Amino acid sequence: DTAVYWMRMEDMRVDDNRAAAAASAFALKHNIPLIVIFIFSPQDYAAHDRGPRRIDFTLRNLDTLKEKLDRLNIPLYAISHSPRKTLPDKVIELMESWNAKALFANLEEYEIDEARRDIKVISLAKEKGIFCDFHEDKLVVPPFKLSTQQGKQFAVFSPWCRAWKQYIDKHPECLVQAPAIQANPASIRDDKKYTSLFDVTIPQHLPGFELEDAEKMEKCWPAGTDAARDALKRFLTTKYRVGQLDVPLLNNGAKTVSKNDTRLGRYSQDRDMADRDSSSRMSPYLSAGVISARELIRETMKFQGVNKINMERDNGGGMWVSEIGWRDFYSHVLSAFPHVSMGRPFQEKYADIKWETDESVFEAWKNGMTGYPIVDATMRQLKAHGWVHNRTRMIVAMFLTKDLMMDWRLGEKWFMQQLIDGDLANNNGGWQWSASTGVDPQPYFRIFNPILQSEKADPSGDFIRHFVPELKHLKGKAIHEPSKHLSEEQFKKLGYPKPIVDHHEARDRAIRRFQNPGSL
Ligand code: FAD
Repeated sequence: DTAVYWMRMEDMRVDDNRAAAAASAFALKHNIPLIVIFIFSPQDYAAHDRGPRRIDFTLRNLDTLKEKLDRLNIPLYAISHSPRKTLPDKVIELMESWNAKALFANLEEYEIDEARRDIKVISLAKEKGIFCDFHEDKLVVPPFKLSTQQGKQFAVFSPWCRAWKQYIDKHPECLVQAPAIQANPASIRDDKKYTSLFDVTIPQHLPGFELEDAEKMEKCWPAGTDAARDALKRFLTTKYRVGQLDVPLLNNGAKTVSKNDTRLGRYSQDRDMADRDSSSRMSPYLSAGVISARELIRETMKFQGVNKINMERDNGGGMWVSEIGWRDFYSHVLSAFPHVSMGRPFQEKYADIKWETDESVFEAWKNGMTGYPIVDATMRQLKAHGWVHNRTRMIVAMFLTKDLMMDWRLGEKWFMQQLIDGDLANNNGGWQWSASTGVDPQPYFRIFNPILQSEKADPSGDFIRHFVPELKHLKGKAIHEPSKHLSEEQFKKLGYPKPIVDHHEARDRAIRRFQNPGSL
């Protein structure tokens, strides 16, 4: 007999992991070994636009987990399976081959396909008399726990956030650390039934998801919970300097400083600055579940010296916790309104908006060649690091959907393919916010001016100079709008494109199209 914990792409840790802890307790109680499985599903990855960076990060995290589990005599059995339709049958087939009494997993993927897959597994397991125990673990507060006074799902962040805080105050277990998992007896390694499970190796790459910049990604984003904790510690204890944008991005020797000067201490003032390393860069680790959101909040509470969640927005910790709240919010939205994960706008009235379709314009945006330096620096950073700041994500998303008037779904897909932190709920939420089609979105008539945004997000100009080398000698206002501040001749010498659209004309076009969806 055995107990099986099925790890998936968004709960890649064994510390503070509810399903893993429950599986371990069950194995101990029944005196049976614990097996961990991970099933690659390339068809699912392709269907969800998972990019090579996200897949490579998954494989690297599995490597670190294998080492950890090996020390506990727990096999990590990783295999690839297709077609995805038969994945539930494969899980049950494995369970039967190991005479498994129970299957444990975290319900961390709230997309419709994954929910259907889990329901099928549970029903097949029931037929075979296998006990199933699925846990809520991804979010601080699981979906469907919060509702408006009218009993409806929230579609506006601020009241939702107040309800979220109240819920956590009333249910302190939301933040409690799950017990550590226990080792299997060493004798399992000599047991013929299990020895081969220890020999399974984690592949270097999955066919179809080969990564060209694997070495750089490894330097930018080292895998494993220990690396995530190092990154968190750095956010809580060290200071940035302006222009700190080089690889490696994390743990680059910054000095410890007093609380108010740390990245977290200064988060409320500086989080929107792209020319410095002002946010935590925890998103790849959170998206893959390498560290729990609970742990981030517990550590923030220690930093703040409080024992109840404190979300006052003028203190760095409070503001940061509310950002972690956005992550819960968008997953709640995805669960309550599944049409958003099926390529539909949350606000159906905008389903007929007329989008532009010029492929060369889209290419210019993807490649950072629009002639708007802040947009181009961001798009090039996305390619170079697989990650960008929240503010600049908003700027380029707004630019694509309003200035270029191109479909938000194109941008959503491109982000998903490039990002190392690609997360369907957050990405979809961010895109629909920017396109004004989502829950609690930016109203369609409030369109970012890319030049003003550039001056705010990159006051030193270091961000643009770093990622757009054509502009590296420019100073002052010219860095934000070179075509306006340089002579024709000076501009020509840069080898940098002229603005692809006139912002003011484009703004009028966007407002017109949103006012009358369906018309040009
Ligand atoms: P911090 O500022 O340190 O915040 C801490 C954590 O809070 C983040 O790691 C993240 O998990 C969460 N968070 C912060 N801001 C948001 C937000 N606006 N929405 C949801 N969660 C948030 N985030 C992803 O994790 N994956 C994505 O694929 C993704 N795509 C986005 C696309 C667009 C167009 C936009 C506007 C935003 C997107 N975001 C996405 C949200 C946000 O930009 C990133 O989470 C954030 O920039 C990550 O950097 P950080 O870890 O330093 O964040």
